[in-house]
Amino acid sequence: MNRSESIAEIATALAKAQAEISNASKNAKNPLPAPEHCRYCGPRWSAFIGHHEEVYNGRSYGDWPYVYLCENCGAYVGLHPFTDIPLGTMADEGLRRARKNNKQRFNLMMKASGMKRGEAYEWLSGAMGIPVVECHWAWFEIEQCEKAGKLCSERGK
Ligand SMILES: [Zn+2]
Repeated sequence: MNRSESIAEIATALAKAQAEISNASKNAKNPLPAPEHCRYCGPRWSAFIGHHEEVYNGRSYGDWPYVYLCENCGAYVGLHPFTDIPLGTMADEGLRRARKNNKQRFNLMMKASGMKRGEAYEWLSGAMGIPVVECHWAWFEIEQCEKAGKLCSERGK
């Protein structure tokens, strides 16, 4: 491979990546703004873009292993693939646990009911009395996680 070929390959890869980023940003519905600072620690602590390895014990998941992260308290939230759009609000350990545990109840309910993911979110948003575009686990506070999880468990029976 000579130098000009490799530069052409890099340019092609870069153009492809830019197209993916542009599409991904357009596909992210109802995006939240990027967090400027940590919601727990306040304006003195900026939300940095960190790598999965910093928050998942050296592991990394998916094609876009980045998070908004507070270096003070360790709160974080993931990013929509190929964008800088946060998946939701930054979460401390308790909120992350509430989101994870109750989302499992949602997944179990979805399996038991035979609903598709979109249908399951339609149902959950209706049951919670919120618009479906706001019905995301990563947007929920602890109380909403618990309410949603309870609804899912009741429905799943
Ligand atoms: Zn913090």
